[in-house]
Amino acid sequence: MGFKEVFDACTWDKIREEISEKKTAEVEQALYKKGKRSLDDFAALVSPAARPYLEEMAHISRTLTQKRFGKTMQMYVPLYLSNECQNICTYCGFSLDNKIKRITLSDAQILEEVQVLKAMGYDHVLLVTGEATQHVGMPYFQHVLKLIQPHFSHIAMEVQPLDREDYELLMPLGLNTVLVYQETYHKDDYKLHHPKGKKSNFYYRLDTPDRLGLAGIHKIGLGVLIGLEDWRTDSFFTAMHLSYLEKKYWQTKYSISFPRLRPAEGVLEPKVVMSDAELVQLICAYRIFNEEVELSISTRESEKFRNHIVGLGITSMSAGSRTNPGGYAAAAESLEQFEISDERSPLEISEMLKSRGYEAVWKDWDAVLQ
Ligand code: SF4
Repeated sequence: MGFKEVFDACTWDKIREEISEKKTAEVEQALYKKGKRSLDDFAALVSPAARPYLEEMAHISRTLTQKRFGKTMQMYVPLYLSNECQNICTYCGFSLDNKIKRITLSDAQILEEVQVLKAMGYDHVLLVTGEATQHVGMPYFQHVLKLIQPHFSHIAMEVQPLDREDYELLMPLGLNTVLVYQETYHKDDYKLHHPKGKKSNFYYRLDTPDRLGLAGIHKIGLGVLIGLEDWRTDSFFTAMHLSYLEKKYWQTKYSISFPRLRPAEGVLEPKVVMSDAELVQLICAYRIFNEEVELSISTRESEKFRNHIVGLGITSMSAGSRTNPGGYAAAAESLEQFEISDERSPLEISEMLKSRGYEAVWKDWDAVLQ
């Protein structure tokens, strides 16, 4: 049995209604409980009834995060390799129907980018491509991993979902982590936002973390694109997915991201706008619900928000990011996937963390420790 069966036993509208009907007493019960919180507690923590408890939530979240992670922040950076994509996604600048110049970096260009990232101090890289099997399929991933493995001690990928056997082939080449965001767990709206291409297969994407767990990957990243649908219900399904995976693939680590829909050329406006206070509520809810999960925030968020959120539950951050292939050195003018909001350099972020008593961690893992 995979997550599909668990998911199919739930109804979006029913969960949405249950969250909206949570009462103060249920929020307090979730907040002041000792030990592990349930999914029902998570529903209370993300509910509108929890909004007056934001300060209390932040306090608990801070304490739990420091207990487990100390005052550290894992630093990572995305390396966009290609903007080729065979999918239509209504929210993405790389969508097939968006007439942009398509590029896939050559080996020389990749190594140019790597050089810049290493000079910034990075040892943890996130490789990103669109979904275009012909240009960026398995032979390409195998080739690129071999090329860059000598330069980084932790390699994550955010590329098209693959079969279990593919992941098993990539892991010995240096693949440690795979991020696979469901975008939305609202099945009907998912179809509206992914009308064409392999990504339109909702269940193939939904079952990807299962395939990764079976392959024995080191870490899996989950998340939804906030703005496509009701964020409370989507986050509840993410939390449910996380709980299911942790029980079944207990040797794997997990991370959650909270991308809010950002402007990009030719993409839609968010259907649901999440305020900064609501994003803080969500981050704290995840931490109170799960003390082990890594919580990650990217440069999509503003400088002010990212400064504020340090210490409230987040454990990893990107800095100095470019979201276009070649954006660091090789082809700076290519079109970005979405606009960056926090433009500060890794050094500036490191200084900001230091001023708050936090340490930027550039390397916290090595394959030899496995
Ligand atoms: S979100 Fe991914 S799959 Fe969709 S258009 Fe963008 S790059 Fe392609």
